[in-house]
Amino acid sequence: MKILVPVKRVIDYNVKVRVKADGSGVDLANVKMSMNPFDEISVEEALRLKEAGKATEVVVVSVGPQQATETLRTGLAMGADRGILVKTDETTEPLAVAKILKGIVEAEEPGLVIVGKQAIDDDCNQTGQMLSALLGWSQGTFASKVDLGEGTVDVTREVDGGLQTVKLKLPAIVTTDLRLNEPRYASLPNIMKAKKKPIDEKTPADFGVDITPRLTVVKTAEPPAREAGIKVGSVSELVDKLKNEAGVL
Ligand code: AMP
Repeated sequence: MKILVPVKRVIDYNVKVRVKADGSGVDLANVKMSMNPFDEISVEEALRLKEAGKATEVVVVSVGPQQATETLRTGLAMGADRGILVKTDETTEPLAVAKILKGIVEAEEPGLVIVGKQAIDDDCNQTGQMLSALLGWSQGTFASKVDLGEGTVDVTREVDGGLQTVKLKLPAIVTTDLRLNEPRYASLPNIMKAKKKPIDEKTPADFGVDITPRLTVVKTAEPPAREAGIKVGSVSELVDKLKNEAGVL
């Protein structure tokens, strides 16, 4: 069984994001970009299923500019077999990505698509769910455990107040949560090997998808600066301030 893993190129999670002076968006100039952390978890899960003999091939796919090839190479260096770049320099909203992924699913016929629960740049948490709806496939979102059986997959989901396990008929969509696994680091030999693995190049037009944004960003703003703290001289002063200034006691 083939597993498809969409991987998005996003601002590295360690970077302090700056808003552009005109508030039109986030400044991407000279900023370190990496694979979306939830997508690293998806690649890791797919690789573990392959290593357990439950999958035969892991294909990574990214929708984005030419530089998204680096993101694909990261997935290939972790152990994925091949990549697909759907090249575009335009902003792609989750609906456009989901429609493109639907086209890839129809061409590749994977048994499982493992998607990150959200991309840390737009925090949309929509692509996996939209893909599931477009394909009419079952979905198990926010997975903290994936147990692949014969024709089914049990997905343990992190929900408010606990865990829920759902059994899905394959083919299915799973979206990954933080506690599913700890992604591996790519070893140097595997980074070298990844350079030779194939990456197929496509465009949104190849799938007949109109990626024109449906949303308008009205404003992007930095969070308010945190006020400086103060040092108190005694416990009684602390209690007094909590009671009479902060009003929390
Ligand atoms: P979002 O719905 O934007 O929060 O993204 C959720 C997940 O969809 C991500 O973790 C990726 O697995 C996938 N995804 C979203 N955008 C892209 C993209 N441009 N290329 C590849 N995968 C994507």
